[in-house]
Amino acid sequence: LRPATTPSVPLPSSADDPHAVLSSAVNAPLVGGGEIGYAALDYAASAPVLRRVWDEVAAYAPHYGSVHRGAGHLSRLSTELFERARATVAAFLDCRPDDRLLFTRSTTDSLNLLAAALPAGTRVFVFESEHHAALLPWARHGHRVDCLPTPRDPEQAVREVGSALAAAPEGPRLLCVTGASNVTGELWPVRELAAVAHRHGARIVLDAAQLVPHRPVSVADWDVDWLAFSGHKLYAPFGSGVLAGRADWLDAAAPYLAGGGATRVVAADPAEGVRVTWAEDEARHEAGSPNVIGAVAIAAACRALTEGAGYGALEARERELLSALRAGLAALPAVRELALFGPESERVAVVSFTVRGWESEALARTLSDRYGIGVRSGMFCAQPLVRRLLDADGPADDCGGALQAVRVSFGAGTPREHIDRLLAALAELTR
Ligand code: PLP
Repeated sequence: LRPATTPSVPLPSSADDPHAVLSSAVNAPLVGGGEIGYAALDYAASAPVLRRVWDEVAAYAPHYGSVHRGAGHLSRLSTELFERARATVAAFLDCRPDDRLLFTRSTTDSLNLLAAALPAGTRVFVFESEHHAALLPWARHGHRVDCLPTPRDPEQAVREVGSALAAAPEGPRLLCVTGASNVTGELWPVRELAAVAHRHGARIVLDAAQLVPHRPVSVADWDVDWLAFSGHKLYAPFGSGVLAGRADWLDAAAPYLAGGGATRVVAADPAEGVRVTWAEDEARHEAGSPNVIGAVAIAAACRALTEGAGYGALEARERELLSALRAGLAALPAVRELALFGPESERVAVVSFTVRGWESEALARTLSDRYGIGVRSGMFCAQPLVRRLLDADGPADDCGGALQAVRVSFGAGTPREHIDRLLAALAELTR
């Protein structure tokens, strides 16, 4: 974003609705990177920003000011948009009325924030198959982590949680699970996992980083205590994320960061030092100047996915491309798709596979350099899961490229030609 000296939309009067003022810029259709000749098939890492989201950010850019800090016109406009973005995202996630919705930097940041806010002595239950962002924050904050074995079907996942919780002593307990695997795209039984966690007096946080870009979610209806996701996987720019859910543990915890904005009263005294009374609402965990552009962008992406055809159209299109991709891969003898729950399980548009005779990094480079196709290679920040799926145990450092996989993921704006190009390239390279 270049600072604009000439506003592209008229400055609103204080009575104007900021979104109405910006709405002239947000009517572009849902468009991803598809119009670019390069086949970007790595949406699970970072999805292209929707044109509509860029437009809304660009329309806001000339007017932005620091939030919650001033009576000036731009400050009030930004505060209004920031808080409206919060309400939009809360509605998008179908939060309960008393839930907190915090803007963070990413899913990683959200889960670290929650880890820092858990009551002392919380036991955390997590499947070994999780993304590192969901595996690692808990121990860092001194909580005991119980690692559950990778389940082979959704029912086993629910049973594993039930028996682990039944055997655990009373006290605060948290289950952390993904909604959709970032390796296989498979959907996890979130409702059932929330129910079994609650039956045993535990709470649940949903890592929805790979779920919200593909499916609508409901914090209230699924009865999850917290949910985390990242803007850059939801067609918004980098640097913004969300943690939403129960207020009690968040409000009782020390602020995630200490600094301006998170305080109510601060007193400094040479004899007594610095004393502070912290804010008791969202501000408690949002110290410092917040990322208003990130919040505005996430809210724009949420609206893009829910207004008009939204998720319905996206899901139908993804299903069509996914079955073409998987059928094409199945027809290639050298390709082995990775699955946790089996080939028939429900999944989002994320597929990982190995290709006999190809080291994954070399294959990904060849696809990019020779065919203009961008895929991900490696272990996708889920080393225990990838190792298990490849039947290759051992420390990650020993994993030569041959033990790694290639991942293809897509979404809004992906044309059929990108999938066809990939399948033709793989056929040629494995002939
Ligand atoms: N959880 C899952 C399932 C992911 O796929 C990712 C990113 O790949 C993350 C968490 C971490 O997201 P971020 O890197 O945006 O913090």
